[in-house]
Amino acid sequence: MTGQDLLPADHLQLFIGGAWRPAEGGEELQVHDPADGSVLATVSDASAGDAMDALEAAVAAQAAWAATPPRDRGEILRTAFELVRERTDELARLMSLEMGKTVAEARGEVAYGNEFFRWFSEEAVRIHGRWMQAPAGGSRLLTIKKPVGPCFFVTPWNFPLAMGTRKIGPAVAAGCTMVVKPAQQTPLTMLALAAILAEAGLPDGVLNVVPSTRPGEISEALMADDRLRKVSFTGSTGVGRTLVRQSADQLQRVSMELGGNAPFLVFEDADLDAAVDGAMVAKMRNMGEACTAANRFLVHSSVAEKFGRRLAERMGALRVGRGQDDGVDVGPLIDEKAVEGVAQLVTDAVHDGARVLVGGSRPDGDGYFYEPTVLVDVPPESAINVEEIFGPVAPITTFETEDEAVRQANDTEYGLSSYVYTRDLARTIRVAEALDFGMVGINTGLVSNPAAPFGGVKQSGFGREGGFEGIEEYLETTYVALPGG
Ligand code: NAD
Repeated sequence: MTGQDLLPADHLQLFIGGAWRPAEGGEELQVHDPADGSVLATVSDASAGDAMDALEAAVAAQAAWAATPPRDRGEILRTAFELVRERTDELARLMSLEMGKTVAEARGEVAYGNEFFRWFSEEAVRIHGRWMQAPAGGSRLLTIKKPVGPCFFVTPWNFPLAMGTRKIGPAVAAGCTMVVKPAQQTPLTMLALAAILAEAGLPDGVLNVVPSTRPGEISEALMADDRLRKVSFTGSTGVGRTLVRQSADQLQRVSMELGGNAPFLVFEDADLDAAVDGAMVAKMRNMGEACTAANRFLVHSSVAEKFGRRLAERMGALRVGRGQDDGVDVGPLIDEKAVEGVAQLVTDAVHDGARVLVGGSRPDGDGYFYEPTVLVDVPPESAINVEEIFGPVAPITTFETEDEAVRQANDTEYGLSSYVYTRDLARTIRVAEALDFGMVGINTGLVSNPAAPFGGVKQSGFGREGGFEGIEEYLETTYVALPGG
């Protein structure tokens, strides 16, 4: 298979100002199949100079785009939504190939990610300010919402489509232009999406895409420019901190969707079948390579043995293999470093006293695979409970009381998602309020929803994507003081 079998040859280049073109120095990067390490495609590799060209295009397009009627912006998103829906199968295959997830999961991501286009096509026409009388009477207060201006988006490899649409959807709806730098491991999906948005009628320069192996150089160049007004990043906390620091010079607005360390709490009164079902979703979505992935299973000691046994049965029955093959449930991890990281966390946990109920090693053969794994008796302080695992490993730790469960759950620098299984309504309310996380799932292993405000607290970042809140990240408020009549 060659890159052209996946995308038309010109779509394997940079997308700047509505045109496809090579990198200025002719550099190229390789996209690999994580199932066997082979080269899938070669894509233009943007330099800082190319990224600045993309910013020029975004800046040039900004004023006209901001003046476009909201209905027109919404209709473009809606058309893109229809096109993505029609092309679900080809997008899913492309994403499965470059990222590793199964085609079925990739279809799920296309459907989920595409909902941000639909949601924000509907939000585009609901941008409004307010009119009010000053409390003391007399003057009137008017607020006007305006697009923040040209944006810079950096997205990760784990959800190549959805992490893009979550930013592009609201930015388009709000009237912002943008430069997108997808993860170098998975640029193909974003390039395919750019072509779809162009086909849907997005004017030249509104969306520019610059895959690159030099993300630091690109972000430094773009963020030093005061015409760039907004940075939205999804990725690791370390890179997020760097970008927040870089944003200080030009005081760009920033949204940060960073790492997580989600606790999955199972109380003694929980419906255990439902908890195991939820655990499979919260842990195994995307092979565990999700910022929302359940990272620590905190289970009441009276049900821990049963929960662990049932979870191990389900995890042990999963078929590991190439994401495009029939019957496969779990694809490869993204690269060798990812497998080594997961393997090290498991080795350390066993050294700390954990027992392996199922899995615990990497299968023989090519590719970056790791077996679905369940560990029990994991000490709370073991590295696997502290760091983001980003792989198919479920460590189980026990607790005795509700207070202890909440304390353990909150004992992390992260604060993205959390999950609670209980049938007690009063406990549901107490625990949901006490958990220091941006999102709490009650008796569900899936919190992501385009209509909900997705985001974290603490070292998981700030800002929200989706929901009514999502578009606010791309709007400025102008207050107009008026005399009374
Ligand atoms: P990463 O931070 O290494 O890379 C993310 C993106 O940042 C990539 O596009 C990369 O090229 C770019 N990047 C790297 N260095 C940069 C720099 N100096 N300047 C600008 N860009 C730079 O993360 P990753 O390994 O690709 O993704 C996994 C991480 O993303 C995990 O920590 C995960 O939790 C997090 N994540 C968070 C969310 C969320 O919504 N909170 C969603 C998905 C993934």
